[in-house]
Amino acid sequence: MIKSIEVPMKKQILIVEDEKQILQFLQRGLTYKGFAVLTAATGEEALSIAVAAKPDLILLDVLLPDFSGLDVCRSLRFADMGALPILMLTAKDERTDKILGLESGADDYITKPFDFEELVARIRAALRRVERIRHRSGKIAIGDLVIDTDLRHVWRADVQIALTKREYDLLELLVLHANHVLTKERIFEQIWGYDNEAGLEIIKVYINTLRSKLNAGGKPDLIYAVRGVGYMLKQEVREEGRER
Ligand code: CA
Repeated sequence: MIKSIEVPMKKQILIVEDEKQILQFLQRGLTYKGFAVLTAATGEEALSIAVAAKPDLILLDVLLPDFSGLDVCRSLRFADMGALPILMLTAKDERTDKILGLESGADDYITKPFDFEELVARIRAALRRVERIRHRSGKIAIGDLVIDTDLRHVWRADVQIALTKREYDLLELLVLHANHVLTKERIFEQIWGYDNEAGLEIIKVYINTLRSKLNAGGKPDLIYAVRGVGYMLKQEVREEGRER
């Protein structure tokens, strides 16, 4: 049986800042505002914490002792954290066009010294944007496949399946358009849109990973490949439709 327990969750923010005073100020302030706070003082720490803890938002200083916040940002975008909002902390003279440029992938920036209430407002706005994108109507079932679009959980025949963020995004897109063919271009635009360096062939890599996870133990394939066009998810897939 599938059970889910609704617990009001605090939004978790990862603060990446090497200046101790600013870090402590932000940590205290955001904790007081009701956020769960994680901290990192270097880019390397930031990446490992972000991947392990999957925070709801990252507050990222641009100038870090090891590598720049822009590099951290880029790395996160390649680590299946495409929808994670990133708010950059910058000094006044740093070029905001570069920070907000497509190649870094930041969502917003705030200039130091900043007004704390303004920062909190920006954080809440970024979190709301993500919520609006993500908010759908709970659980959807296609045959024995169930996805929970609120919790982003997936089950096949009552067994929960662990997916990376981007694998989940791709599966959700297919499920929301079940029985309709999605072109590769549309899939790419929806899931990788901001990412110039990946090509359409990345989709097949992800489809194959999804298949191996969803079909574990010899379960029938749900993803139908339409040669030269794209993919469709449906309950039963004919053998000749498979693309290996
Ligand atoms: Ca710094």
